[in-house]
Amino acid sequence: MKKELKVVPITNGSVIDHITAGQALNVLRILGITTKTDAVLSVVINVPSKVMGRKDIVKVEELELKPDEVDKIALIAPNATINIIRDSEVIAKHRVYLPGSIEGIIRCANPNCISNAKREPVISKFVTVSEDPPRFRCFYCERIIEEVSGYI
Ligand SMILES: [Zn+2]
Repeated sequence: MKKELKVVPITNGSVIDHITAGQALNVLRILGITTKTDAVLSVVINVPSKVMGRKDIVKVEELELKPDEVDKIALIAPNATINIIRDSEVIAKHRVYLPGSIEGIIRCANPNCISNAKREPVISKFVTVSEDPPRFRCFYCERIIEEVSGYI
């Protein structure tokens, strides 16, 4: 008999679906949700998906993520969708959009960039050059980053 693993639905909170397979933990890192959180977290990795082949899903209970907080995850999970759940009902659903600029998430690949300075480093800042494929340019030294998951 085939056993299906069903993820328990949540009553209140946020469900981030259609995360690029293998990126769920990076999504949590970008959102600033660490293992020290009090929130009940469910992380499901490599779920079979008709559209994506495989995907990850993150559920955060009792926390309603705001679109502008979540857009940052488009860096590594451009197809992600966010469902906000209240009293077991989906009250809002949106997809993520790559912001025009990203501060403090991407590490510059240039060791001499002032965002990598050992003394008084400035917060990194990248400008989105293209969305597909995603490319970002360092605001300070103009270095281009393409494989962004290696630099977060
Ligand atoms: Zn730089």
